[in-house]
Amino acid sequence: MYDYLIVGSGFFGSICAYELNKKGFRVCVIESRDHIGGNCYTENKDDINVQLYGAHIFHTSNKDVWDWINQFADFNNYRHHVLATYDNEIYSLPFSMWTFNKLWGVNYPDDAKKIIQEQSIGIDDPSNLEEQAIKLVGKDVYEKLIKGYTKKQWMKDPKELPKEIIKRLPVRFIWDNNYFFDKYQGIPIGGYTQIFERLLDGIDVRLNTNYFDGDLPKHDKLIFTGPIDKFFNYKYGKLEYKTVRFEHKFLNQPNYQGVPVMNFTNYEIPYTRIIEHKHFEGINTDYTWITHEYPQEYVTDVTEPYYPVNDKTNNEIYFKYKEESEKIKNYVLFGGRLAEYKYYDMHQVIEQALIVVSKINK
Ligand code: FAD
Ligand code: UDP
Repeated sequence: MYDYLIVGSGFFGSICAYELNKKGFRVCVIESRDHIGGNCYTENKDDINVQLYGAHIFHTSNKDVWDWINQFADFNNYRHHVLATYDNEIYSLPFSMWTFNKLWGVNYPDDAKKIIQEQSIGIDDPSNLEEQAIKLVGKDVYEKLIKGYTKKQWMKDPKELPKEIIKRLPVRFIWDNNYFFDKYQGIPIGGYTQIFERLLDGIDVRLNTNYFDGDLPKHDKLIFTGPIDKFFNYKYGKLEYKTVRFEHKFLNQPNYQGVPVMNFTNYEIPYTRIIEHKHFEGINTDYTWITHEYPQEYVTDVTEPYYPVNDKTNNEIYFKYKEESEKIKNYVLFGGRLAEYKYYDMHQVIEQALIVVSKINK
C-alpha cells in the first residue's frame, strides 16, 4: 500500500516523489512512456546528449530553484542565442538591436523605436498575437520573423491566438541577444536524464504503465501530472493542445549549422526549428545529431499534448475542470504543465512542485 501514487515522471512528478520519499511517505511513480524525465528526457547517442523532445534550456531568476536543481547536476554557462532564417537571410533573436540593424540598417535605439512606432500606428490596446507583435516590434519584423513561424507552429492565424504567447520573447533596444532575461541559465553537463535518475533513486517506478489502463498499485492519495481533461473523461469538453513531431538524424559531419537552434520563419518550410545538440555542451566529435521540429495536428489520445492553447475558450473549459479538481483535492493533487494547463517552463514547474510538497507533512 502506497501513501502516494504519482502519475508521470516529468519534473512535477519526480520532485513530488523525491521530496515525499524524503519525508517518509511510501510513493510509487507510474509513467506511460518507456523512460523517466517527461519532455526533458535526454538520450546519450554516440557521446552526444540528444534532447528527444526539443531543446530545453534551463533558466530562472529564483535562487532557491537554481540552488535546488544544482544538487542534481552541474550546469555549464550556456547562454541561449537563437538565429532565424527567413528567405535565406539570417536574423538574430530575440528582438534586439542586432535584429533591427539587420532589417533596417539602424545603429541607434531611437531610430529603431521610431520605425516601430510608425509601423504600429493605430494599435493602442492589442487584442491578439498579431496586434501585440506589431505593437512591440513593428510590421516588418512581424511579417518576416513572427507571422510564418507562429502560423506554422500553432496551425492558426496569429489573429486568433492569445497575445501573451509573443510576450515570452524579450524585445530589447540594446545589443544583447540573450534569449532570456533570467539571472541563472545553463544546460546540465551530461544531459537532463541524470537529474531524474537521482530524484527517483530508490523509488518504485513503473514504466510503460498508463493510469487509464487501470490495475493500479493500491494507494491512499494521487498526484496527477497528465492532461486534466482526460482525467475527468472530457466531461466539460476536450482541451486544445499543440503538438510537434521530432525527427532525429545522425550526420556524418562534425558541424551542421554552427549553432544549437536555428528557427525557420518562412511558412512554406514545414519545420519550425533545427536543433544541433552537440553545441549545447561544446562536444567535440567528427559527427553530429540534429533534430527537426515539425508542427502537427493534435489528435486527442493519439498524439502527445505538448503545449496548452491558453485562449479564452480553452481557459474557460480548464476552469471548469479546475473547479472539479477542488472538490477532490483531499485525495488528488493536480500539477505540472498538462494538469494545470499552463505554458510552464521547467523552473516554474519546479517552483510549483516544491511549494506543493512543502505543505505535505506526516
Ligand atoms: P512532462 O514533462 O510533460 O511530464 C509529464 C509526464 O507524465 C510524461 O512523462 C507523460 O508521459 C506522463 N503521463 C501523462 N499522462 C500519463 C498517464 N495517463 N499515465 C502515466 N503517465 C502519464 N522549458 C524550459 O524551461 N526551457 C526550455 O527551453 C523548454 N523548451 C521546451 C521545448 C518543447 C518542445 C516543449 C514541449 C517544452 C519545453 N519546455 C521548456 C517546457 C518543459 O518541457 C516543461 O515545463 C516541463 O517538462 C513540464 O514538466 P511536467 O512534469 O509538468 O510535464
Ligand atoms: N516566435 C516567432 N518566431 C520565432 C520564434 C518564436 O514568431 O522565430 C513566436 C511563436 O509564436 C512562438 C512564441 O514566439 O510560439 C514563443 O516562442 P518560444 O521560443 O518561447 O517557444 P517554445 O520554445 O516554447 O516553443
